[in-house]
Amino acid sequence: MSLAAAIDVKGWCPGVLRPMQSGDGLLARVRPWCGALRLDEAKGLADASERFGNGHIDLTRRANLQIRGLGDAGVHGLQDAVDRLGLVDRDVEAEAGRNIMVSPLAGIDPDEADIRPIARALAGLLASDTGLQRLPSKFGFLVDGGGSVSIAGERADISLRALGRTMAVGLDTPAGTDWVGSTSIDEAAEVAVAIARIFIGLSQGQGRLRDLGEGPFRRLRAIVQKGLGPVGNLSIESRRLVGAKGSAVGVAAPFGRLDAHQLRSFASLAGEAGAADIRLSPWRALYVGARDAAAAQTLMKAAQEIGLIVNANDPILRIDACPGAPACRSSSVDTRRTARRLAASSFTGSVHVSGCAKGCARSAPADLVLVGEQGRYGVVHHGTARNLPERFAEAEDVGALLDVG
Ligand code: SF4
Repeated sequence: MSLAAAIDVKGWCPGVLRPMQSGDGLLARVRPWCGALRLDEAKGLADASERFGNGHIDLTRRANLQIRGLGDAGVHGLQDAVDRLGLVDRDVEAEAGRNIMVSPLAGIDPDEADIRPIARALAGLLASDTGLQRLPSKFGFLVDGGGSVSIAGERADISLRALGRTMAVGLDTPAGTDWVGSTSIDEAAEVAVAIARIFIGLSQGQGRLRDLGEGPFRRLRAIVQKGLGPVGNLSIESRRLVGAKGSAVGVAAPFGRLDAHQLRSFASLAGEAGAADIRLSPWRALYVGARDAAAAQTLMKAAQEIGLIVNANDPILRIDACPGAPACRSSSVDTRRTARRLAASSFTGSVHVSGCAKGCARSAPADLVLVGEQGRYGVVHHGTARNLPERFAEAEDVGALLDVG
């Protein structure tokens, strides 16, 4: 049985131009261009989050940043500050439609195709065609270079993934990405927006690609496939990195939350390591290309000292936890406090601690799911936050939360 019907799923995503109310004030989502922030942009956002918000910055599962805790009076100041950094779109509609995830080591990893020009072309097409503003605000694109750190297994309505000298084209379905064909690198961005236009025609801009229904999806697939080359049977998974690999460094923020001073310090450290920018990923780790392997090691050590995670075996990385109370008004439990206590326990499976049944932090099943309800947690095993709890346990009782009996 699903609890989805009881959940207030908002139909739009917050931006800088249209912040959203949350438990700790307004929050504004900043969309970096092509998944990268120049170091001065990162420092500017850190400063702005302290000056106009509460200094808490969340990394999102769409590889964006959320500045939290804005008061009504601070919104215009933040908008001006972010605009001066060049990170604001021309209007609310353009901002809402620019949902493009880019593989974080594009242009850094020599074994990966540099697909940033495709992402830039795609952003330009989305901004220039007002007809595409009929896409649902959560409709998203993914562009992956096929390197050692890959986002190609993440969920996006339309995926483009480098495959030799071509780009594989993927469509989101309820069962995952359906790689339907391939196109040239030069045409990849045009192909992606052409698919989006067909989707609008079939759906009237409602729902997501995976919600299209069997008949309309088959029609869309057939139309799309006519213009594509072969792709073979592709089975693609994401490849993550936390730690250093050569000169590339990936660091994670505990539960995807940075404080302003951490972002500012990390940007300074990245500069000292020879990096030009900071890349974001949908698993909420930050990536940097250092000048060499020695600089990467120095950066890792320094990042650890400011509270970032540099070890892929860190137990915090097994736990997804949404902001919970008091940051989110939908939660009655302090999810991150619970998550830290679970990280110190002997439980070794995947964990999702959710402030409510909406389950913002994780859509995939986890071994253990705790769902906040009236100050307690509903306990689910091998499921998602939307499953009916097997039982309830007090938030402070870690033994009861973990008890499978
Ligand atoms: S899952 Fe967490 S962040 Fe999302 S609405 Fe519920 S309490 Fe808020």
